Amino acid sequence: MRVYKFGGSCLTSPASLERVRELVGAAGLPLLCVFSALRGVTDRLLALFERAVATGEVPAEAQALLAEHRAYLEPLPAVRRAPAEAQLAALGAELERTLLGVALLGEPSARARDRALSFGERAAVVLAAALLAEAGLAVEADASADTGLLTDAVHGDARILPDSRPHVLARYRGRRGVVLVPGFIGRSRSGAITTLGRGGSDYTATYLGAVLGATTTLWKDTQGLLTADPRLVAAPRRLTQIHYLDALELAHYGTRAIADRAILPCMQARTPIEIRGFLHPEEVTRIDGREAGVLAVSSVAEAVMVDFLGTGRDMLRTLARLLSALAERNTYPLLVTEASPRGETSIVLKQGDLGLLEQLLEEHQIDEQPLVREDIGLVAMIGSRMRGRVGFAAAIFETLAAHRINILAIAQTASERNVSVILERDRVPEAVAALHERFIERELD
Ligand code: ASP
Ligand code: MG
Repeated sequence: MRVYKFGGSCLTSPASLERVRELVGAAGLPLLCVFSALRGVTDRLLALFERAVATGEVPAEAQALLAEHRAYLEPLPAVRRAPAEAQLAALGAELERTLLGVALLGEPSARARDRALSFGERAAVVLAAALLAEAGLAVEADASADTGLLTDAVHGDARILPDSRPHVLARYRGRRGVVLVPGFIGRSRSGAITTLGRGGSDYTATYLGAVLGATTTLWKDTQGLLTADPRLVAAPRRLTQIHYLDALELAHYGTRAIADRAILPCMQARTPIEIRGFLHPEEVTRIDGREAGVLAVSSVAEAVMVDFLGTGRDMLRTLARLLSALAERNTYPLLVTEASPRGETSIVLKQGDLGLLEQLLEEHQIDEQPLVREDIGLVAMIGSRMRGRVGFAAAIFETLAAHRINILAIAQTASERNVSVILERDRVPEAVAALHERFIERELD
């Protein structure tokens, strides 16, 4: 068995589903295909949801969204089209009921938001199933929200629970044909629909691949994992093969090609992940257990640094409380440094997580008043090629010093796969370009 996942950025028109058919047709059976929502649909559903709350009405755009999906079915003969249209209409009605509910309530509920978002992936499965079946493939599809994935109850950013394993095996093992599964969604123990965080369809696919012992191929319109962000460096190189742990570092520190939570299940099960170009299948990054001696530069420009100066009495306990509260919300800092007798500690987070941190400080009545710096960014040298190399950290600092870039905080992991520096945000592009030039372009040429 293999697992394929088709990213929303690839699903842009009926022609793109024709490309899906080509890829599926060329693959061996059995094949599990996980679908994202069509491009842009999740963002639009979010906007619809917010508008319903704000205006007290179901926005007219809900109908337009449904009609756009229906248009994909137009080329099909009536016998094939009618049942798919009926399924789509049922999903549309469910969406409208959810929007109406929050419109009347005038308050956003995280549960209702996830239910509304689930429309995107489920509708994509309905469309793909009809088009693939029409092309003569043996398709089994289920557009319900029951994918066999049991999650925690962190709506909007749920994690899959290990108890999902028997459900997944019972549901998918032994299938023969092409099985279509909506990505991004699961159910909590109470039965509510949950979503797995933005980009969460990858996580659905890799989790299924891990449990089923299959290779997972993520078909995307990106170039896979690169030695640097192509927006910051003119000619980054593709990493054709990379160890799980290095990929995990890249994922946590800035790459948009894959999220860290999507790597973990396969790392534990030792099943490989491939990121492949939807239109250029020869462009591939393979993530597996082989140590490849990778080196890359990563960055998170939208970071914030929260400094606890340690004037409160019990900094360590305060910190423990705060970090465990963050973990409960599936939120992990980019970096934590502590090196002072007073317990002075800096926590660096993605900008988007600052609101949550502030909320938790209040909820947990933590009276230590931290200093928040929003004008900083993080740059990380990543990869096992740094291990055991004397002078590597010195060379990183020298390179930055030569550009007169000031370092505000530093962390190196004991695995020597990551040296992170915090600097002023507007120096991030220059720092990335300088490090890439010094360690990757110059070293390899
Ligand atoms: N549709 C969801 C999103 O856009 C999940 C995914 O695409 O993986 O975030
Ligand atoms: Mg998407």
